[in-house]
Amino acid sequence: PNNSPFLYPAPTTVDQSLGIISLKRDLQVPILLRASNPSNPTDEITNTRFGSFPHSTLLNRPWGSQVIASKVETSDSKRGRKRKREGKGGEEAEKSVERAEESVIETPAFEAATSGFAHILPPTPELWTVSLPHRTQVVYTPDYSFILQRLRVRAGETIIEAGAGSGSFTHAAARAVFNGIPHDSTQLLENGSSKPRKKQKKSGKVCSFEYHQDRHAQLQKELTEHGLSSIVKITHRDVYEEGFSFENGESPNASAILLDLPAPWTALKHLSRTPSLPNRPSPLNPKTTARICTFSPCIEQVEKTITAMRSQGWTEITMYEMQHKRLDVRRELTSLNYEGLRGVNASAASVEEAVCRLRELTAKFSEFHADAKVRKQVNSLEKYNKVHTKGGKGGTEQGGDGTANGTGDKEVVVESKRSRLERIKKEDSERKVWREGKLVHRSEMELKTHTSFLVFAILPREWSGVDEERCGKKKWGGE
Ligand code: SAM
Repeated sequence: PNNSPFLYPAPTTVDQSLGIISLKRDLQVPILLRASNPSNPTDEITNTRFGSFPHSTLLNRPWGSQVIASKVETSDSKRGRKRKREGKGGEEAEKSVERAEESVIETPAFEAATSGFAHILPPTPELWTVSLPHRTQVVYTPDYSFILQRLRVRAGETIIEAGAGSGSFTHAAARAVFNGIPHDSTQLLENGSSKPRKKQKKSGKVCSFEYHQDRHAQLQKELTEHGLSSIVKITHRDVYEEGFSFENGESPNASAILLDLPAPWTALKHLSRTPSLPNRPSPLNPKTTARICTFSPCIEQVEKTITAMRSQGWTEITMYEMQHKRLDVRRELTSLNYEGLRGVNASAASVEEAVCRLRELTAKFSEFHADAKVRKQVNSLEKYNKVHTKGGKGGTEQGGDGTANGTGDKEVVVESKRSRLERIKKEDSERKVWREGKLVHRSEMELKTHTSFLVFAILPREWSGVDEERCGKKKWGGE
């Protein structure tokens, strides 16, 4: 795992590393960066609708760099040109040159403003989730971050996952159980030398199960490519029938479980403290509480799961539904805005009246561009007010309602200036709302989450007389 780009990305992009090309918000593409070499001298090119990115322009760059698309000649175009030069191919050769040219960087005019560059990002479970090749529905980041936190998955723990599907949750779980230290890690000493770390917490494990053969094979391949195969042990198995312990009699010793299966209640019998199958131990760590989460889209599935949980000793059963919404917050001019500010009735009697009002508002809008002038006026009035209220005869503070407090003529003048100041200030703030609009928010319609019900429960550890005795000794320090 010490060379997994998901756990330890190199400071810059390197040959053979996985990178994520970010083309725009919500459009990320994973690519394997490949440098050209003597045996393969042609530069690898990733073509996108925002342009072409030869890998030579993506390599040896700090992660996060912006890369400008290149105008590259495709092999189709090259072939066409050659045939054209040689006078072969006629119309067809010309067409192929044109076709190839169109398919490269010249994107349609409406995309021109945003076309032509990308950012190259290091792989993370979050980026992998939004860019992975989907073979199934997947668990998205808002769900898995909550699940891993509720299951208290930490470095060194073991988590069971079934089914593995497209491996979205698998990547996040692998990072959560990883101890954060490369296997060959050494400690740097003050004198510049280094020595192996004394105490190194063991990395945890993800025991993943998938019964679909192709999905199992594909995920195994990806985990190897991503340097995660020493953390994730993926098994091809129907967990309803065969449970979670291994054929050789080994137990995963898990303290956390995620079941993302069509019928999680069917698998529950294999997650007990006592063995459910001959020659297979319980898959749970006997020394810790087991925490489970089931991920089901229908409430009927939830009901069946909870019934099974209750009868099998699971406690603290709770259900959540994750509603992940992205809010689009902006100022918007609405008719209510206009009307509220102008203090007139919102309903226009006719189209003519509405047009008339709109004209008035437009005129008012230009008027407000004299903003700087208003500010200047406010500032000078504020100054004036300060001098005349504190230093004036009688020195009394003024009320905000425009009445004088038993002082002379001068203060009546101050009073009127003050109320004018307040009026201008009020109008100024109204103008701001009027000009910029009311603050509104909407949730975005398209959400990339698969809403499911999350059922959590815990199974306490076994507690024997021996445990009680040991506990008593520890507590009271004696017999
Ligand atoms: N959690 C996965 C992810 O984040 O990518 C997605 C899981 S997908 C919704 C459900 C998977 O469970 C499918 O790939 C399916 O083949 C697998 N599955 C269904 N029944 C199973 C069983 N009895 N044993 C093992 N896997 C099973």
